Amino acid sequence: VGDRSDYDSEVKSVCAFCGVGCQISIKVKDNKVKYVEGINGPANEGRLCVKGRFGYDYIHHQHRLTKPLIRREDAPAKGLNVNPDNWQEFFREASWDEALDFAANGLKGRGREVAGFGSAKCTNEEAYLFQKFIRQGFGHNNVDHCTRLCHASSVAALIENVGSGAVTATFNEIENADVAIVIGANPLENHPVAATYFKQFTKRGGKLIVMDPRNQSLRRFATHMLQFKPGADVSMLNGIMNVIVEEGLYDEQYIAAFTEDWDAQKEHLKRFPPEKMEELCGIDADIIRAVARDFATAKAGMIFWGMGVSQHIHGTDNSRCLISLALMCGHVGRPGTGLHPLRGQNNVQGASDAGLIPMFLPDYQTVTDDGVRSAFTDVWNSGDFSNERGLTVTEIMDAVHEDKIKAMYILGENPAMSDPDVEHARDALAKLDHLVVQDIFITETANYADVILPASALYEKSGTVSNTNRTVQMLRPAVTPPGEAQEDWWIEVELAKRCGLPWDYKHPSEVFAEMAINMRSLDNITWERLEGGAVTYPSLSPEDPGQSVVFGDAFPRSEGRAKFTPAEVVSPDDMPTPEFPMVLTTGRQLEHWHTGSMTRRSKVLDAVEPEANCSLHPSTLRKLGVEPGGHVTLTTKRGSITIMAREDRAVSPDMVFVPFAYVEAAANILTNPAIDPYGKIPEFKYSAVRVEKASAS
Ligand code: SF4
Repeated sequence: VGDRSDYDSEVKSVCAFCGVGCQISIKVKDNKVKYVEGINGPANEGRLCVKGRFGYDYIHHQHRLTKPLIRREDAPAKGLNVNPDNWQEFFREASWDEALDFAANGLKGRGREVAGFGSAKCTNEEAYLFQKFIRQGFGHNNVDHCTRLCHASSVAALIENVGSGAVTATFNEIENADVAIVIGANPLENHPVAATYFKQFTKRGGKLIVMDPRNQSLRRFATHMLQFKPGADVSMLNGIMNVIVEEGLYDEQYIAAFTEDWDAQKEHLKRFPPEKMEELCGIDADIIRAVARDFATAKAGMIFWGMGVSQHIHGTDNSRCLISLALMCGHVGRPGTGLHPLRGQNNVQGASDAGLIPMFLPDYQTVTDDGVRSAFTDVWNSGDFSNERGLTVTEIMDAVHEDKIKAMYILGENPAMSDPDVEHARDALAKLDHLVVQDIFITETANYADVILPASALYEKSGTVSNTNRTVQMLRPAVTPPGEAQEDWWIEVELAKRCGLPWDYKHPSEVFAEMAINMRSLDNITWERLEGGAVTYPSLSPEDPGQSVVFGDAFPRSEGRAKFTPAEVVSPDDMPTPEFPMVLTTGRQLEHWHTGSMTRRSKVLDAVEPEANCSLHPSTLRKLGVEPGGHVTLTTKRGSITIMAREDRAVSPDMVFVPFAYVEAAANILTNPAIDPYGKIPEFKYSAVRVEKASAS
């Protein structure tokens, strides 16, 4: 960056990547971000990871969209890869008026034929406006976003058993814990700043128990590393809880005072002795016993989990087990205790809170409740909308194939890369009569668009975002968007007006004020307050910075009690066969973010990790006759990719790990769209796969 004192302005905002929500200072010169530094936010205390520190320059990339684009009448077929340097073959530039009219004309009056995907990358206000646009504008609830693909099953289990979809304790509470479990999460890569708190915890003597099918690097700090068989979460967790029951280590007083349905759970757990579970989950019975004793006898224990838990057809059952484990030990509602699903995207918590989901209005108020709907239509000054739960992300794609959905509005999501079985999703996008894409680049999804509306990156917008800790923070624009690109909320408002909605918002603060009317989570939190600093909800008074730990007195359920829901062992959907003998699992890696549309356009991050790669055990590579750095072909029932292979002892010999950031070897060509029946989340973490030496390798 050269002389670090040579900048014109400094703007305080929030990192654009993960759910940790690190606060940053953006140094700007000549309307360009010069560099970014961590500042003293509640979640980072000055720290940043490589993405937060170096991953900002994508906003100045030459391929940023600067003008609205309309598909040419003589354009080649939808879905063909649009060369961002030669998009004129596919699209023509349009004025905002023409593009918005064109976008609205293809949507309005189509009722249930329309569906919308919003974004966890946008602000709370933009998420709120998006769900309102679909509900008020089209009369139904076919609106969803990427939470469906990350923690929908965790949220389903938390709402069912605890009464709230958010974390019960911030990750910073680990400093008050003496034992912590991290399961199905890889925080050193995916939540790196949160991981620094986990490491500090172990330095001062805290016991860290890591459970993961990959022997990931957090094991270096762990007292126990349980590398269990992929998909065997329930058998391992039921085994742990069986020990706690059999040895009488559960907290009887807590259970009696704060929970219901314990007797059924206790009876159920008797069927899962560790000796029986050992075979299923691959963890020695003695280790299961030791972990059970450590967690149950801790003064204060916490459980953190990630998408390794949630992205299964039994993801809700996995989370139910974790909730039961915490409840039976009384590890909820006190300092150093709690349940914490580590949220992925920077604002997936906020977007879900704001109602960007097909079954819930803001604050998880159900759409089936007449009173709830009328509370919203009163504020919106509009007629009622459907009391039926809407379709989820993957169900919407199925409905397109069934000719039920014919037009879509997609804001900041990239289903042509992120859906499971992307060929199915891409065929659906190609089939639509009308597709409006609002984004900052011509993404793989925009290849199918009829009209593309150029939007803003996070460093260019005003609004609020909510991190994994329930902390609401203010984004501030550091630079202006390129060309004619606009903030997403402005585009939503203009589109809504053209679809006949009486919207008249002039600033995101007005949207925030409207949200606060029907969202009790925002009590005592105002825009003006947030301008002065972050607030964690719930905030009990205008002076209260927010509650780090919740549910000490009661749970937000009937009679204030949390609930035990027993979980049975369910096999993954796509089990290995002689034709597909290994297990594929997918995820992220430190340098790249989700579908790669931002980080692969960031010079530093792309230079560090430029090529699509997968991880295989050295013995598997030897068996295949492939040198590290050579190429393998991965084939599942759904498709095939060829990709560079890396040697990695963290994966077991019968497993392959593929990051999903690379369009040239898209992991989701391979993944299984089978879904969890409760959270409707696809099983990204488990598919049967065949691995072969690539023909040119
Ligand atoms: Fe950004 Fe997450 Fe890294 Fe913090 S930990 S700098 S929020 S990517």
